[in-house]
Amino acid sequence: MFDQDIEELASLVQNSRRAVVFTGAGISTECGIPDFRSPGGFWTQYKPIPFRDFLSSAETRFEAWRRFLMIRESIGNAEPGPGHHAVAELVARGHVAPIITQNIDGLHQRAGVPHQQIIEIHGNGTYATCLSCGLRHEIDWVKETMAATASAPACVTCGGIVKSATISFGQAMPEQQMADARAATFNADLFIAIGSSLQVFPAAGFPVTATRNRTPLVIINREPTGLDGLARLVINAEIGPVMTKLLARLAGREANH
Ligand code: NAD
Repeated sequence: MFDQDIEELASLVQNSRRAVVFTGAGISTECGIPDFRSPGGFWTQYKPIPFRDFLSSAETRFEAWRRFLMIRESIGNAEPGPGHHAVAELVARGHVAPIITQNIDGLHQRAGVPHQQIIEIHGNGTYATCLSCGLRHEIDWVKETMAATASAPACVTCGGIVKSATISFGQAMPEQQMADARAATFNADLFIAIGSSLQVFPAAGFPVTATRNRTPLVIINREPTGLDGLARLVINAEIGPVMTKLLARLAGREANH
């Protein structure tokens, strides 16, 4: 059964030129970064802090930054995993353009995918910005400032609120990235969702849009998702082995031509 699934996936990928790969936290668990909802995941221990609460109190901002710096400890040491490398290979072979990612860890870039092929709809956790004037601040600076002042950082230029360049619950989605992701979804000839519970909206609306556009949807995830009923193919298995087998099968198909 599993081999048949890989065969079908290889056939879909081989025939695609404008596939969209849509990734969630699950592609990075093999790199040691906990996902959102799996048992023991970071967020089962700490509830996310909504954007409104972040804005409303300096104490909440300090706590949000403290948690962010804890997560960053694991992200900072992480290397791209087999899933990231396989997706990079699919991009390099001309099957996939672009990647829409919910992840903030920057590992698709680190696996060698060109920056312009990656749409980060939930932002990027490798730097911070001032919410008033937009000035970029480095995370190391935030860490040092918090250690020295025991308070949440303020912008060095205008004194505004400094926040990681990620999208929090309740925060507006980035307009350009959402427009790019919509356009890529409408243009896609295949849509592959990898490592996402597909519960976070509006992000999970992209695979729904793809199927409304009659684009075949493939879901690769350890556990079932609420969108499985819409998918042409669902593979409930570990991402690294699935993607490694996919590459081997594609290579075999090319050798036979
Ligand atoms: P999620 O945690 O809701 O879902 C992840 C899914 O991946 C789960 O269904 C889990 O079963 C599956 N999974 C985990 N490891 C797997 C593996 N090795 N093989 C196969 N399946 C595996 O994640 P989501 O849908 O991305 O939503 C969470 C939100 O939190 C996103 O918005 C994301 O921005 C953010 N987040 C990002 C990171 C990151 O950047 N690495 C980490 C945690 C959370």
